[in-house]
Amino acid sequence: PIDRPRRPAWIEIDLKQLRRNYEVINREKTKGLKLLLVVKDEAYGHGGLKVAKAALEAGVEFLSLSNLDEAMALRGGGIDTRILLLGERQDEELPWCVAQNLTCCVDSQEVVLKLGKLAEKVGRPVPVHLKINTGMNRYGVRWTEALALVEFILSTKSLQFEGVLSHFAMSDELDKTFANLQLERFKMVLAELADKSIHVKYRHICNSGGFLDLPQAHFDMVRIGLLQYGVYPSQVCRRIPGIAPVMSVKARIAAFQNIEAEDVVGYGMRYKAPSPRRIGVIPIGYGDGYPRIRNEGYVLIRGRRAPLVGGVAMDAIMVDVTDVPEAQLWEEIVLMGRQGDEEISVHDVARWKNSVSYDILTGWRARLPRIYL
Ligand code: PLP
Repeated sequence: PIDRPRRPAWIEIDLKQLRRNYEVINREKTKGLKLLLVVKDEAYGHGGLKVAKAALEAGVEFLSLSNLDEAMALRGGGIDTRILLLGERQDEELPWCVAQNLTCCVDSQEVVLKLGKLAEKVGRPVPVHLKINTGMNRYGVRWTEALALVEFILSTKSLQFEGVLSHFAMSDELDKTFANLQLERFKMVLAELADKSIHVKYRHICNSGGFLDLPQAHFDMVRIGLLQYGVYPSQVCRRIPGIAPVMSVKARIAAFQNIEAEDVVGYGMRYKAPSPRRIGVIPIGYGDGYPRIRNEGYVLIRGRRAPLVGGVAMDAIMVDVTDVPEAQLWEEIVLMGRQGDEEISVHDVARWKNSVSYDILTGWRARLPRIYL
């Protein structure tokens, strides 16, 4: 908590809504299906430790991160639940992973050997999940070579073979052709394992899109990132009533300018007023992660849209408030989120930036204070 005045631009994280989203997801999923919550990149910009704590209260059994620094931060914050590290590890990171009780994904004999030796040293079985590349071609052993690697893991007695996973390249679009092809490849490996009576505790391939739209791919566990934050991976995937966004971005109006027709606004003179206008100045800019759009987008003032005029500066944007004449200096406005009957969704901001919702959520910089409700 800070006892000095807070800057008039901030992010609100609604932890109550986050908890409601967990309740909704828990109610929606079939009984017995396990949840792994992806909280990498500061829980998609929502605050890693805060979200991890809420997730644990909601009874989740696994968290997932993308690197050792993130894992150390959560462990340092007292999070002792299971953590699956996605992605690849350099050799020198492996002892740390074992010491911190992290579960690694493995996809080569080399990593299995190294982890096996470390596990022998510490004298307790180290669990591993086999990452299978079913077509995304990012991480993982090719599906045709997965069985051989499983057998190699099983022959490494110090390791505990616990899971197999893969990742969808496109699970949130209406066309599920490629997702289904990946699923078939994944199932082929599972069938090979079953033929050899090899038991796997956690079989998982679904992200949020797969959880929503591919119930036949749920297996033992689903890995949910975006959806827990109340954002859908695409506009076309299935909706679940009760899920709502957790993050909003707000600010206060810091100045007004009354301008004449033909006057220009901002760097580069990118906006020229067609008629007398009233301009509001909002103290947030690309230095806070606001996208560098120009004469596009809007903010909400008194539940009404005030369009952005000119470009985005490091610390300010200018908006046309002519149609909201009651607007007052220092009153609260919304840059992302809901006000009155209007909403600026994460997808709206992503569209303006020509990007994706993931990038918008994680793109707000650390200098914007986060307020937890
Ligand atoms: N699984 C893996 C391997 C990922 O990399 C991610 C996110 O990038 C997820 C699951 C979660 O995806 P989503 O946020 O779409 O639910």
